[in-house]
Amino acid sequence: MGFFDNLGKKASEAYGATAKKTGDLAKEAKLRMKINENKSDINELYTEIGKKVYEKYVSEETFNMRYVEEECSKIDILSSEIESCLTSILELKNRKQCPKCFAEIDANATFCPKCGAKQDDVEAKEVEIVDNQENNSAEQHTSSENSNVNQENNN
Ligand SMILES: [Zn+2]
Repeated sequence: MGFFDNLGKKASEAYGATAKKTGDLAKEAKLRMKINENKSDINELYTEIGKKVYEKYVSEETFNMRYVEEECSKIDILSSEIESCLTSILELKNRKQCPKCFAEIDANATFCPKCGAKQDDVEAKEVEIVDNQENNSAEQHTSSENSNVNQENNN
């Protein structure tokens, strides 16, 4: 009996882990799909830019960047979306990219195992800024509360 009980317990534990993994895999698949969509959109924009440049060449007009600025800025947006998708995929795997050598490393690593770059600089700064903002608003809140109390006391 005990053997089968343990078997059932182990199976449900494994199922829980698999379910989480399946959810992550589905998320990763969606992100990869988005990346591929953006890549093909970027290729269409490259074609569009090429066409415009060639039209200017044929008509012997002087080429100006403003003719293709719209397409270029769309590529910028699509590229940054790809970047954030790639970051999300790494986060799903509890991994991140070293900002110095771009190696895929453990999300909790303090130093990059490949190039040795310190990893916590950027995140630490972000946390500091958020903390300061919270402290300031908390102080303001407290001081306004105090002034309310003072007014009440005066009355
Ligand atoms: Zn590195």
